[in-house]
Amino acid sequence: MEWNGVLDHYFNYLPVKERKNIVSLSEGNSPLIRARNIEETLNDDLKVYLKYEGANPTGSFKDRGMTVAVSKAVEKGEKAVICASTGNTSASAAAFAAKSGLEAIVVIPEGKIAFGKLSQAMMHGAKVVQIKGNFDEALEMVLEISDDYPVTLVNSLNPNRIEGQKTASFEISDFLGRAPDYHLLPVGNAGNITAYWKGYKEYYDSGKTGRLPKMTGFQAAGSSPIVDGKKVENPETVATAIRIGNPASWEKAERARDESGGMIGKVTDDELVNAYRTLAASEGVFCEPASAASVAGLFKMDGTDYFDQGSVITCTLTGHGLKDPDVAIESSEQPKTVGKSVSEVLEVAGL
Ligand SMILES: *Cc1c(COP(=O)(O)O)cnc(C)c1O
Repeated sequence: MEWNGVLDHYFNYLPVKERKNIVSLSEGNSPLIRARNIEETLNDDLKVYLKYEGANPTGSFKDRGMTVAVSKAVEKGEKAVICASTGNTSASAAAFAAKSGLEAIVVIPEGKIAFGKLSQAMMHGAKVVQIKGNFDEALEMVLEISDDYPVTLVNSLNPNRIEGQKTASFEISDFLGRAPDYHLLPVGNAGNITAYWKGYKEYYDSGKTGRLPKMTGFQAAGSSPIVDGKKVENPETVATAIRIGNPASWEKAERARDESGGMIGKVTDDELVNAYRTLAASEGVFCEPASAASVAGLFKMDGTDYFDQGSVITCTLTGHGLKDPDVAIESSEQPKTVGKSVSEVLEVAGL
């Protein structure tokens, strides 16, 4: 099959008017990987699939929304886009802006961006502004700026982002020939859970699928405003992509949860890192720490009575592990250094 990105493939479901305005990096069509090794370790009888969004051009699902947001900005004749970011939005905005010829301005919390993501924004030529504050404060600033100046906001408050991101649930349904019974994913600013739910409902309403999944989101325990029912002033977690204390799509996430009969829970950093390492070591899939919240949540709910036996589960792995090599190296056993003798290599290798 020829693949030219989500706007080309799902054009009739998306808001861009003319194909000539499409700005695409051939995003989407990411792998849906059956996780048989993980299935075998579960108490429940489940079919588990991983939607590996790290395979997108800039290494996260943000590309699905950004192609629509930037194409719409082109269609409207805009000159610049702006976003606040924990890293991946800025990487994606910078790449799509580079492709389109628009300028990108990205505002990020100083020292809290994984290095891979920062390097992307810099390489794609965005104007990178670091603030001595957190993501929530950066978002308030770009909202004010985009109100007063001729720049288009490309955070997930921009509905075009949500439109593009819903294509992940289309792909899953097209691939499986049905919607899953449960869809698990990390929740940060809560745009993605909103987008997936919108996509599943649209496919259901158009008769493409005959069921709706229970939307099952997970926040990091140190930044779990939706679970705890209150804003978190100083969110903390190793999973920087979901280090958000006041999610922009808070109510929409609650609606997705409640309409679908799902849940939003929280997982500790230890649980996150355990799932992150298990995915890499037993399934060969390297995602970034925040992404593993979905599978950490799967492990957490396994053996409770949350899942019906025999269910089909899809877990979104939102971004690529190479984005944040520091956490990977810190949480792994360090390589041993030996002299230049074969016997020493053999000893370390256990041969
Ligand atoms: C953006 C992002 C999230 C959080 O998605 P929201 O739509 O903000 O809930 C999770 N993981 C990764 C890797 C991300 O880039």
